[in-house]
Amino acid sequence: MSRVYVALGANLGDPLAHIKAAQAALAEIAISGSLRQSPLYQSQPMGPADQPPYINGVCVFDTELAPHALLDALQAIEQTQGRERKDERWGPRTLDLDILLYDDVIMHDDRLTLPHYGMKQREFVLYPLADLCPDLILPCATPLATLLLTCPLNGMTPLLS
Ligand code: ATP
Ligand code: MG
Ligand code: MG
Repeated sequence: MSRVYVALGANLGDPLAHIKAAQAALAEIAISGSLRQSPLYQSQPMGPADQPPYINGVCVFDTELAPHALLDALQAIEQTQGRERKDERWGPRTLDLDILLYDDVIMHDDRLTLPHYGMKQREFVLYPLADLCPDLILPCATPLATLLLTCPLNGMTPLLS
């Protein structure tokens, strides 16, 4: 059994509905009862600025799926929720599910990089991750709390529910 952290993001259609549907879908692939979800945030888009703000959060759960099988499952959920893959990087999307951490696995191939290559710089990942697991230590031995010290909020606000 492995413990995984997955980042959720959405900024098209009804982003909150996509995030909630994704949380429900993740609960289905998680070992029963293991899923916990962070509070949600509204954040500014990365890359092209002419797109709506994002809703972001992080989920942690336990799974028996191997890393690539987990990626397949996440991409299937993205497809179910109408994700269209376009050439533009970081363009708007109905749903993005990224594997942040898979146990302490460190790996890189043409489909999967673990830990996620951008997680250490992204406020919309680090703050919800800290809500879930403030004492987390990354596989590179860096404490999450250390990364937060140098991570500006960039206008991100908690989403009041
Ligand atoms: P970013 O990866 O910078 O957050 P993105 O999430 O918008 O950008 P996508 O279009 O969702 O990028 O994914 C591009 C490719 O990234 C996927 O096809 C997938 O194979 C690859 N990938 C590599 N590492 C990961 C990971 N840890 N989690 C999810 N996808 C990954
Ligand atoms: Mg992403
Ligand atoms: Mg992605």
